Amino acid sequence: MAKQPDVVIIGGGVIGLISAWMLAKEGLHVHLLERGEVGKESSWAGAGIIPPGKFEQARNPFDRFRSWSSEQFPHLVKELENHTGLGCDYHVCGGIEFIDSPDPVVSLWQAEKIEFQEVHNHPKIKFPAPRRGYYFPQMAQIRNPRYLKALQQSCTQHGVNIETKAAVSGFQVSGNRVTGVDLANGKQIEGQNFVLAAGPWSEPFLQQFGVKLNIDPVRGQIVQFAAQSVGLKEILIVDKCYLVPRASGEILAGSTEEPEAGFQKENTQMAIESLREFAEGLVPELRSCPVIKTWAGLRPGSPDGLPYIGKVEPYQNLIFAGGHFRAGIQLSPATGRLVCDLVLDRPALFNPKDFALDREPPRDFQASFRS
Ligand SMILES: Cc1cc2nc3c(=O)[nH]c(=O)nc-3n(C[C@H](O)[C@H](O)[C@H](O)COP(=O)(O)OP(=O)(O)OC[C@H]3O[C@@H](n4cnc5c(N)ncnc54)[C@H](O)[C@@H]3O)c2cc1C
Repeated sequence: MAKQPDVVIIGGGVIGLISAWMLAKEGLHVHLLERGEVGKESSWAGAGIIPPGKFEQARNPFDRFRSWSSEQFPHLVKELENHTGLGCDYHVCGGIEFIDSPDPVVSLWQAEKIEFQEVHNHPKIKFPAPRRGYYFPQMAQIRNPRYLKALQQSCTQHGVNIETKAAVSGFQVSGNRVTGVDLANGKQIEGQNFVLAAGPWSEPFLQQFGVKLNIDPVRGQIVQFAAQSVGLKEILIVDKCYLVPRASGEILAGSTEEPEAGFQKENTQMAIESLREFAEGLVPELRSCPVIKTWAGLRPGSPDGLPYIGKVEPYQNLIFAGGHFRAGIQLSPATGRLVCDLVLDRPALFNPKDFALDREPPRDFQASFRS
């Protein structure tokens, strides 16, 4: 009889994959179940912005989470690339945030000792007055689909059993333990531990355990310009919209926030036009560049935009990791680390209480970066 997996993971987005990868590297036998193809939902659609951070100086639990992830990315990507031979297109490209003045976020950057400086002009950019521009040399980006592919490949090489077209339909429980999952195709998979990482599709499973977190889909749309002629290097961020120039010359313009769209993943003409208008207003040369691609994804939104990562009490062997909203890619390293610490029941690098399913929305918290 085949040995039961140590960990069964439900969902093959970035959160399920990074958890699988880190757990497998700890020597655990991991079985990942994905109802479609791996890495084709929100995690595929994202722009891949990775804000800078200084872990040592960050004092807020969520800033510590972001800054640790930010510092880990170069090492993590190097390890993935060396292990698989697949590139992730991670690079530190720098970025400019345009904010109202005064804005208390500046004091957060200063307190964390993040490197930045005010900029007043740039040959490619029409500054969105009256906002002021702040340049971050350490802002980075990654190509989500490539990061996901490398994670998937490295998981397989580390022995993770990845099963696609395997939709979980429910959990089997006995007392305070989950013992297995049922698949829509009639199969049952038993295991020692379970990680629910089904993005915006997680809520009905949580409710099976009497937990209501309100993890809801929030559609985001992106348009991509063929913009090799523009030669923009930096990420540009204005509130919730941004331009992300890929190393290959395309520029992504994102993104909408549409909770009212529910689970509909289509692009809309209105959003495409408003993203175009935003992009061409900020970088006028884009007016002569064609839009070559558009897409949309469903972010797993949580009520305060921050993730939940913790045990689904009283079930000691079921962990939920989700609700990362706009930041699942950038927070993936720290999320994988916390999931690992919880499954292995070892002292955690991040205080589990800060991310637990019964946490309160943090009081007086302001995000240092909005994208
Ligand atoms: C337009 C857009 C731009 C973004 N930009 C950024 C950015 O710049 N930086 C950043 O950090 N983040 C960004 N994000 C957010 C980021 O992409 C998400 O926070 C992250 O991908 C969430 O990952 P996830 O694994 O929780 O969810 P998902 O990627 O949605 O993965 C969940 C998986 O679970 C599977 N699943 C669902 N139900 C079942 C079931 N019953 N059985 C088995 N499998 C199931 C799904 O098929 C899916 O593959 C962006 C998102 C969007 C849409």
